[in-house]
Amino acid sequence: MATDSVYVSNTTNLQKYLDLPQHGKVIAEYVWVDADGGTRSKSKTLPKKVESLADLPEWNFDGSSTNQAPGDNSDVYLRPVAYYPDPWRRGDNILVIAETWMSDGKPNTFNFRHDAAVLMEAHKAEEFWFGLEQEYTLLDAYGWPYGWPRNGFPAPQGPYYCGNGTGKVFCRDIVEAHYKACLYAGINISGTNAEVMPAQWEYQVGPCSGIELGDQLWMSRFLLHRVAEEFGARVTFHPKPVPGDWNGAGLHSNVSTKAMREEGGMKAIEEAMEKMSKRHAEHMKVYGEGNEARMTGRHETASYDKFSWGIANRGASVRVNRAVAEEGKGYFEDRRPASNADPYQITGMIVETLCGKVEG
Ligand code: ADP
Ligand code: MN
Ligand code: MN
Ligand code: MN
Ligand code: MN
Repeated sequence: MATDSVYVSNTTNLQKYLDLPQHGKVIAEYVWVDADGGTRSKSKTLPKKVESLADLPEWNFDGSSTNQAPGDNSDVYLRPVAYYPDPWRRGDNILVIAETWMSDGKPNTFNFRHDAAVLMEAHKAEEFWFGLEQEYTLLDAYGWPYGWPRNGFPAPQGPYYCGNGTGKVFCRDIVEAHYKACLYAGINISGTNAEVMPAQWEYQVGPCSGIELGDQLWMSRFLLHRVAEEFGARVTFHPKPVPGDWNGAGLHSNVSTKAMREEGGMKAIEEAMEKMSKRHAEHMKVYGEGNEARMTGRHETASYDKFSWGIANRGASVRVNRAVAEEGKGYFEDRRPASNADPYQITGMIVETLCGKVEG
């Protein structure tokens, strides 16, 4: 998308309007997951401060405009499931995550949260925790990684991972703004770092229990798109944004149950590995589109077709951290999910594999 004039929003001018009183009214930004793994949102004025989910009305949108419904039955309903303080509008204004539902009372085709929530609820005694490492790449208005030479490539990988200094990292301002926006919103963001490929970054969300991980990660993605929009950069979650000798982008998924975190938990981790090894294909189906271009067995990835696990092994499907093995308890890291995978599908699939199916 090359454009002659790049519009970058004027936040200084905007500031004086953001300060205007709202006379008790509250703005809720309803956010939902669309058909392409993106987020969409629209704003709703509410009469008063929201104290609980029950204060948030069901709403709807035109699903034919987002490929989420046919034109002759286009209403898709938005049912609020979580809300967070809005870092831009502030005050009592909020951001809302909504599930998508059809008029026949069935979840929308792209509402992957519903099945995951049913699984999490059925197996809540296991006390699942998830922590996901979201990698992403920032692109300029021409669709090329931000800060890369217009018609060429930067020097080979090496100086960029956790780098500091001009020419080593790009768009740190976006990363910082996003970090603060997440903290303000109450997202359990646990850290951030520059990645191996220049203009590629990572942040982690978690540990969060059960379905909350998916809600928070989707909200963090929405926040990232909105922050980058102000800086005139584009976010891509493509798992292999630049072919060749450049690292792909993943969504390493760290997982534990109560049994794994307790004394002698390594036994529960080993049992989990046995179950995971039998359902590799089912997992790969929901671990992101285009993941085969990333999972080449090189660039710190495992083979696409075969399950493996190992202690401190970054070339395995699942890695158990050295410290966890030494302590004999903790969590495991599923390194297979691609950066564009749906966290509801990842966490739901893991619960299903470890605990069994549930009819939803
Ligand atoms: P890496 O060494 O793979 O780069 P990171 O530090 O980036 O690891 O991410 C580790 C993630 O693991 C964090 O998001 C953290 O919240 C999560 N985590 C830590 N302990 C647990 C646990 N017991 N269960 C689930 N997730 C955990
Ligand atoms: Mn309209
Ligand atoms: Mn990490
Ligand atoms: Mn990483
Ligand atoms: Mn990792």
